[in-house]
Amino acid sequence: MRASRQETARRSWNPRTLRSAVPAEQPRCLARPGWPETQHSSPRNAVSTVEPHSVGVTNIRVVASDAWAVAAAACPKHMSHGPCAGVRADGACEVPGVGRCSYLDVPDRDWPYADVLIPAPDPGAAIPDVAGAWPRSPAAAGFLATAATRPVVVADLVAPALSADGVRACAAEIVGFADACLTGDHPGARVQFPPSYRARLLAGEGVAAWAGINCRDRNRVAIEGEIAACADAGVAGVHCVTGDHPGTGHRPDAAAVFDLDSIELVELASMSLALPARPLCSVAHAPAAPPAGKRLARLLAKIDAGADVVFVDHCGGAGPLAEAVAALREAGFSGLVLCCVPVVTSAGAAEVVASFAADRLPPGYLDAIMSAPDPAESGVTAAVHFAEAVLAVPGVDGVNLSAGAGPGQELAVTRAMAEVGRRVLGAPAASRPRPAGGVS
Ligand code: SF4
Repeated sequence: MRASRQETARRSWNPRTLRSAVPAEQPRCLARPGWPETQHSSPRNAVSTVEPHSVGVTNIRVVASDAWAVAAAACPKHMSHGPCAGVRADGACEVPGVGRCSYLDVPDRDWPYADVLIPAPDPGAAIPDVAGAWPRSPAAAGFLATAATRPVVVADLVAPALSADGVRACAAEIVGFADACLTGDHPGARVQFPPSYRARLLAGEGVAAWAGINCRDRNRVAIEGEIAACADAGVAGVHCVTGDHPGTGHRPDAAAVFDLDSIELVELASMSLALPARPLCSVAHAPAAPPAGKRLARLLAKIDAGADVVFVDHCGGAGPLAEAVAALREAGFSGLVLCCVPVVTSAGAAEVVASFAADRLPPGYLDAIMSAPDPAESGVTAAVHFAEAVLAVPGVDGVNLSAGAGPGQELAVTRAMAEVGRRVLGAPAASRPRPAGGVS
């Protein structure tokens, strides 16, 4: 199975994609001056990295410039494959007090993803379907089967932290109105049950989990175990993100791990042979995050590392989302594309959503809801309209209902998402052409 992927990687080799080729005699993990000690002193993960990646994705430390190395050394998350999506609109780092994101000062000529393209399929080459080389988990297969017939809905799990009963109660509200629940992060509650345990709790209520895995709290060994546990729990998908720095949440006292970044995590998740049945592997795309013009190329690197589903983050409304999806499809991505839809039905929910997406929501979205006579109904109606507009965009396969809740409001917000899901799924499914060669 692994040989098939590597064979495909070799076929996709394109010297145009590299600034410089990797000399054969160089070790796989080559230390460069300026790289953080914790990065270049540790050997590559034996499972996730078999050999240097053919397009220089996970051996970026070998092929990237010194300017890139300097930026990585200055990044508080030590990202090999920066910049993260937390770059503020004014170019500031997401970590308070750090100043400007270090990657924004890397000259264009040193941007390592600039020429990375997904190779166009060669009809005569009979390239194996890499994703299909592993058996899918039942939940992943079911999700794909559903996506082949109608738009899919993934709802954020908005449940009280560290409450099994709270997770079960929210799951009971959403079951039947979403195809999966994304167990992501919460900026105000960093301490959460492990993703695999939340997946078990959801499964107990008949809800498929889409497990969010971040690199903030676990090193590569712990992450590898967590991914295996999620697979064993029967998740439909694993969502691979770098994660916010602890300095942005309510536990700034915690050490920032960041042994891997999102691209390395994708490779770990997609290449692990410990998975008896493979969940889908998803990544986030933040088209509006600076440097906006270079975000697609970085996303292509994530896809090249093994992602087969893309969640497109809030980026200003259906119009900008359509542009981002069109560019992604034009680049050759044939997997699933799910777009974020904000669900805001109260002042508390608005505050939480604004904390991570205020400048990336459609202009006036929150104000219109909060000034309405019935914000709860107004929020549901606005989300349904937003979802319908997004689902009408060619190349979009579904939506991610994106929400947050203040303490004690989790159940109400989950009910609102269930109502949005009910109305969206109750609408006639649009018939959208699917690209050939999608995930299987
Ligand atoms: S915004 Fe993200 S990538 Fe940029 S320096 Fe800060 S943590 Fe690093």
